[in-house]
Amino acid sequence: MGRKGFSTVRLLVCALLITVHCAQVKTVKAFELFDTEITDIENLLNAKQYADADSKALLLLEQALQQQQMSADTFSTLGALLQNASRFEVAKAIFNAALERYTSDGDLNKMALTLLQLATSERHLSNYTIALTYIRRAMSIAQIERNELLKAQLNLELGIIQQEQGEIETALEPLKQALSYFRENKMANQMSVTLLRIGEIYSLLNQATLAHTYYQDAFDSIQSTGSPKLLGTIKTRMGALALKSGTIKQAIKTINEGLALLLSTNDVGAIAEAKMLMGKALVENNDIAKGRELLQEAMKFASSSGQAKLMKEGRLALAQAYMKEQNFELALKEARTGTIDARLNRDIRGQLSFLSLQLSAFVSLGEFKKALDIQSVIQQLREVLLDSENKSAIEGLQAEIELVRQSRTLEKLEESKQLVLAQAEHENLQSTLFWSVSLAAMLLTFLVWGRYKQRQQTIILRREVRQQTLILQEKNEELKRAYRTLEEVSLRDPLTGLYNRHYLESQLPGEIRRSQFSAKQNPDDSKSKQDLLCLLIDIDHFKRINDDYGHIAGDKVLSVFANVLKEVFRQTDLIIRWGGEEFLVVCRHSNREELPELAERCREMVAHTPFDIGLEKPINITCSIGFSLLPPDKDDDFDSAWKRTFAVVDYALYATKLSGRNGWVGVIETLKTPRAHPTMLDTKFNFPGSRIATSFNNVASIKWPDSLDK
Ligand code: GH3
Ligand code: MG
Ligand code: MG
Repeated sequence: MGRKGFSTVRLLVCALLITVHCAQVKTVKAFELFDTEITDIENLLNAKQYADADSKALLLLEQALQQQQMSADTFSTLGALLQNASRFEVAKAIFNAALERYTSDGDLNKMALTLLQLATSERHLSNYTIALTYIRRAMSIAQIERNELLKAQLNLELGIIQQEQGEIETALEPLKQALSYFRENKMANQMSVTLLRIGEIYSLLNQATLAHTYYQDAFDSIQSTGSPKLLGTIKTRMGALALKSGTIKQAIKTINEGLALLLSTNDVGAIAEAKMLMGKALVENNDIAKGRELLQEAMKFASSSGQAKLMKEGRLALAQAYMKEQNFELALKEARTGTIDARLNRDIRGQLSFLSLQLSAFVSLGEFKKALDIQSVIQQLREVLLDSENKSAIEGLQAEIELVRQSRTLEKLEESKQLVLAQAEHENLQSTLFWSVSLAAMLLTFLVWGRYKQRQQTIILRREVRQQTLILQEKNEELKRAYRTLEEVSLRDPLTGLYNRHYLESQLPGEIRRSQFSAKQNPDDSKSKQDLLCLLIDIDHFKRINDDYGHIAGDKVLSVFANVLKEVFRQTDLIIRWGGEEFLVVCRHSNREELPELAERCREMVAHTPFDIGLEKPINITCSIGFSLLPPDKDDDFDSAWKRTFAVVDYALYATKLSGRNGWVGVIETLKTPRAHPTMLDTKFNFPGSRIATSFNNVASIKWPDSLDK
């Protein structure tokens, strides 16, 4: 019996050990799997097979998101790998996933670090406004955490962004702050990067000697230990400075040294920049054909990786090279393309540079009428530039003043709170004393003067109350204003807790790219879940709720409505408060055929939910929905995809309203073959045909709006 008991125990222990071992093997396997995939991606990057590396990374992201197994740190490592190789679009998608994980873990420092990496990617893609939003968010975390190292890193990135944005003098301040931290803490590499950037600013300010000193410092501080990438970049910048100062032979020599160092790294972005510079130097040295070749090579890279700034620089140099060769027609062609690109990028300075080139080309061609036309456009743009510079300076000042004012308001509120407490204590003491010493006297006085004093006091009290009410109202207004500013910079809508449009704007490009990428991977798989879906949802006759029950009841409806949406849609869907009583939902990893089902589920759930807004009985509401595949036309190009989709869902929503509300109208997909009787929607959006779905009787019963001007 004893023996048997013993062997049962042994058996149980063995089973336990085996289970534990298996569990370990399983998790180890999952991590190992990602490890080998990441090594594969690294190898592809090293072998300069960038498109393959991109695909593999996106596929891994897709897999990891679905299985929820990859850790945030692994995402982060992968993102950094891609960023180092200038694959910024893909790096962004990966960093976003890391950010999501760190946010749900509540790891503030890593969140901030990831925000910084996102800012760097966005900066490389010339999306400066978004980059600055990330920096601002990370900076507030660094303040809370009192993380000085992070602050220094953020200051460095902030300086770089401001410099690239053309706010050169403003950029010096954060850079110098970063420098002093890196110097104190003997962080040679970071110090060198910062010195390099400061040197660049002095170069832009035409202070060549100062710039050279900073570059030299940057080089010397890492000469023995530095990475070839950084050393190469510094050399290249020195070369650029020489080129600018007109010492061309020296420039060519230095850039060559830089390029040699860079070619041993996989930083294609830096290599392209160096090649571009070399191209310019060769053109200056009258070795024009070879120079042009290098410029074109660099531009090819810039265009394939979406780097607008590099592209512009290249085109400008190329056009100048043609001018130098007296090939005015080709110069004109490049200058025109450059002007159009700059206009699309809202880059006024860029437009001015290219227009000036056009002007010179027209003059050289003897086409004076055209030259005059260009001259007047230049004049107008200069005025616009001046205006916008003034405006942004004023806005910057206003924002600073607002920040100071807000902190003052908070200080004042705190002070007055303490004052009230102290006063209360003081009064307490006084009254105790008073009562204990002269109770009798007071009674007498009270009897005699009672009535008179009461009247007096009532008057004083009334005045006091009036004054306090005014002060309170003023404070209230002040707080409301502060609140509105905060609301603008945050990514969530405070009433419903849903994300707002700023958030959507930051997420969409990555999502669209990811979905288009998956679609390309499996073009014929109609069942797979690789579509993005978009639904615009608007509460019916919401104004009546405000009118009948008041604004607070209206607010309550909105927040209950948000909860209903959270129930209808999945956690991975982006639910956005688009504005007022309109909500926008983007479903990821879905199939277009799910659209009608989703819309109906939403319509039905809203119509059947009793909305408890504190009245005797809950009220009922309905909603109208417009939807579309995102983008409706899968071949639609990336840049216009979102604008077109939004126009389509907005139009479809309007059609739902006209057709009777409490329903839905939408586009499941566009068709390649034209329809015999195109709908108004097809005509409006130039679709050959489309598959339309609706909750109303049939497509023929939809009442289409004539135009969208409500
Ligand atoms: P329709 O069925 O055509 O959509 O009619 P509607 O009344 O819902 O639409 P309309 O656009 O005429 O009115 C929307 C109202 O929503 C007007 C605005 O005062 C109110 N509103 C917007 N934002 C808020 C909010 O945050 N809280 C409250 N309570 N009301 C809001
Ligand atoms: Mg409405
Ligand atoms: Mg509305």
